[in-house]
Amino acid sequence: MTEPFNQPPATLGNQYDDDRVLRSYLRRALPAEVLRALEPSLGEMGRLAGGVLYELQLADRLNEPTLTQWDAWGERVDRLEVTPLWRRAERLAAEFGVVAAAYEPIYGRFARPYQFALAYLFHPSTDVYTCPLAMTDGAARTLLHSGNRALIARAVPHLTSRDPAQLWTSGQWMTESTGGSDVGRSETLARRDEQGEWQLYGRKWFTSATTAQMALTLARPEGNGPGGQGLALFYVETRDEQGRLRGIRINRLKDKLGTRKVPTAELSLEGAPAQLVLGETGGVRNIVPMLHLTRAWNSVTAVSFMRRGLALARDYARRRVAFGAPLARQPLHADTLAGLQAEMEGAFHLAFALVELIGADEAGTLGESERELLRLLTSVAKLTTGRQAVMVASEVLEAFGGAGYIEDTGLPMLLRDSQVLPIWEGTTNVLALDTLRALGGGAGLAALHERAAAAIRTARDARLADEGRVALAALLRATEWLRAAQDGGQGMLELGARRFAMTLGRALELALLVEHAQWSLDHERDGRARAAALRFARSGVDLIADVDGQDVFALANDEPMEEYT
Ligand SMILES: Cc1cc2nc3c(=O)[nH]c(=O)nc-3n(C[C@H](O)[C@H](O)[C@H](O)COP(=O)(O)OP(=O)(O)OC[C@H]3O[C@@H](n4cnc5c(N)ncnc54)[C@H](O)[C@@H]3O)c2cc1C
Repeated sequence: MTEPFNQPPATLGNQYDDDRVLRSYLRRALPAEVLRALEPSLGEMGRLAGGVLYELQLADRLNEPTLTQWDAWGERVDRLEVTPLWRRAERLAAEFGVVAAAYEPIYGRFARPYQFALAYLFHPSTDVYTCPLAMTDGAARTLLHSGNRALIARAVPHLTSRDPAQLWTSGQWMTESTGGSDVGRSETLARRDEQGEWQLYGRKWFTSATTAQMALTLARPEGNGPGGQGLALFYVETRDEQGRLRGIRINRLKDKLGTRKVPTAELSLEGAPAQLVLGETGGVRNIVPMLHLTRAWNSVTAVSFMRRGLALARDYARRRVAFGAPLARQPLHADTLAGLQAEMEGAFHLAFALVELIGADEAGTLGESERELLRLLTSVAKLTTGRQAVMVASEVLEAFGGAGYIEDTGLPMLLRDSQVLPIWEGTTNVLALDTLRALGGGAGLAALHERAAAAIRTARDARLADEGRVALAALLRATEWLRAAQDGGQGMLELGARRFAMTLGRALELALLVEHAQWSLDHERDGRARAAALRFARSGVDLIADVDGQDVFALANDEPMEEYT
């Protein structure tokens, strides 16, 4: 009998060395001497991500965090154990400075591109350990922004430490069962005792990474009015010196579709000691720096998942033979992968354009119009890349055929974990509405136009210049739609907000692709970025459509329309 045929599994190499897009971007974005200094750590992270961490991730597939609520003697303990890969990730994150690098002054405005390049390499091999890191980064920035000297001195050195024994992570407890998007309905109450100390009472419905040493959270000081304005921003240290939770109960871990290694819990706050971060009101406004950073992390990790899926799918396509040729040589399979690669490259440049703006803002080198752009892109990049990640992950699974659907290949996790990206940190629709608010009376949109136009002006290659015009035409149509919708009122605006925001995102992605492609032709004599730009231009950039509000409600609610009954 002949041996049965076995397909060798897809494998990964050094995820930094193999990443043309990341390396080419860093060559353009960073001064040569900065890149030279940073490359060894990026190369090392790429080696771990494609090697031992990936192996551990596959071996660790069935391990999940556990919650033990009671000990053998009836004591309530609420002990959380995370997976072996998470414990390893925690140490590595500290040592590599996946948060800390952003706070070290040595690289100025280049600190953020460096830090996010590390996070991008780290993310897909560490079972979404980037979730607590994103909140940790957000908490450090929020505390620094608050000017609360005592809390800055107490927490920020821990949050930005490179010493695994010193590093703290932070939670971000906002969502309650009354609403995650409509957070102004939060019911958690803050009471002040006779000594003037605050205690929190309520229920937090989604709290990821409940292993964190601290959290920033929202609660309503007793006597405050309703809505977001009546909430205040509080700082909570979760455990006492013996490691016991302080006035916090972990009711249960969520049974989730994906991100299963992330211990997302429902909590009861039963007198949790807390400190005001700043002011007894305005909590929703005061937590915004945290949301802005976690949304940037969301954008970068979305690209990172896309890149991982493509690395695996490409490797597989080289080995898997069907109808007499490797899949990589079958025109239609190649066309499918090419479309996905173009999506990933567009998303990459949008996410890192946002990262650059954050770096420049923190280094104090951002002009007024760029500040408007930063505010707008935070939402646009998150919502655009989150949706792209789900689409790409789904296609990646299909590119493996049946194997993509089989759990012990490790592939289904990519789709499940990607699916959270458009949901947490603001859903697509909620961020589309936020995009309208972020237009800044038109200054944000003008800044985005200007950024896209500047990118396209660099194009000397005739085809690239043509595709640049596709991006500008889409932006123009989006602007015309906005004007008409503003005349039509709030309902009209909301109806088209998602198509509008996605058009801004995709048009800017195309413009940035054009810019990078011209640079790559000039400096690397490489046509692949150009191919990505040309392909992206044909993949639906202008999503603006005229829709009738009556039709929408009739369809959405499946209700008869009066004029036809
Ligand atoms: C795995 C996981 C981990 C999480 N971790 C955390 C955490 O650590 N901390 C935390 O605070 N939260 C966390 N969340 C919660 C998450 O941020 C919320 O689920 C999210 O913000 C949506 O809120 P919601 O679930 O209340 O949905 P809702 O706000 O009820 O939204 C339901 C639907 O309505 C849409 N919608 C809402 N308002 C509008 C509108 N005005 N117009 C159009 N559409 C609208 C939304 O887009 C969505 O599709 C986590 C969620 C998940 C899945």
